[in-house]
Amino acid sequence: MKIDIMGVLFDNVTMDEAVSRGAELIKEHAGAYCVTPNAEIAWEAMHDESFRSIVNGSDLVLPDGAGVVMGAKILNRPLKQKVAGIEFADHMAAHLAKNQGRLYLLGSKPGVAELAGEKLCRKYPGLVICGTADGYFSEEKPVIEKINAAKPDVLFVCLGAPKQEKFMASHRKELDVGLMIGLGGSLDGFAGNVKRAPKWMIRCNLEWLYRLMKEPKRLGRMMRLPKFIRACKKQHRLEVKNG
Ligand code: UDP
Repeated sequence: MKIDIMGVLFDNVTMDEAVSRGAELIKEHAGAYCVTPNAEIAWEAMHDESFRSIVNGSDLVLPDGAGVVMGAKILNRPLKQKVAGIEFADHMAAHLAKNQGRLYLLGSKPGVAELAGEKLCRKYPGLVICGTADGYFSEEKPVIEKINAAKPDVLFVCLGAPKQEKFMASHRKELDVGLMIGLGGSLDGFAGNVKRAPKWMIRCNLEWLYRLMKEPKRLGRMMRLPKFIRACKKQHRLEVKNG
């Protein structure tokens, strides 16, 4: 079931349900794509119609941040839980390892995808990394050819938003893959270059504060989070008024 949060249609799923849906999409092998918007990206989608239709046109829209879950609660359309993109990706890697599936890693600076692949294989023996490429390319055609030659079941697309969403939506027909997942900076996370917040901070919905402390230049982008929450409150007041 979809839940409309400020025009972004999120799938109301638990992590287990998201993984089951991901597994189905891999089986269908029809170039499906999954997006993982946090509140900043949802704010972007609210204000950019063409980006919003790319997000809403995807096969799986997962609520990546506490901000989205909070917005859903304010709007009185609660989501079952936060489904963080990097955790979903980790579960999909485990699923592939169990099923002799093939994973291709695209994005981040040169060397990061290879390192992320090594760490994932160490964590999930049996996982096949069928190819890697960095995310700083000028032409897309050779990148697509390289991916198709590797025949992946799953493609992690880590180019940052909105570049990764546009890449997945515009090439889904040419790409011979089961499922693409847009994952922002997750390869940096898997490679160990960027640490996730301590567990207690994730539990207290403070992951955004940890990221801000590590990368103060994100402040401008992060200001979209309180703006998003304010917009949800305003929308809720309007919906109550209009019955
Ligand atoms: N990136 C890339 N190609 C580009 C721009 C960005 O591969 O042209 C990568 C960048 O190296 C980083 C990721 O995309 O690994 C974006 O990370 P960020 O944390 O900004 O993404 P978020 O998860 O916040 O969307």
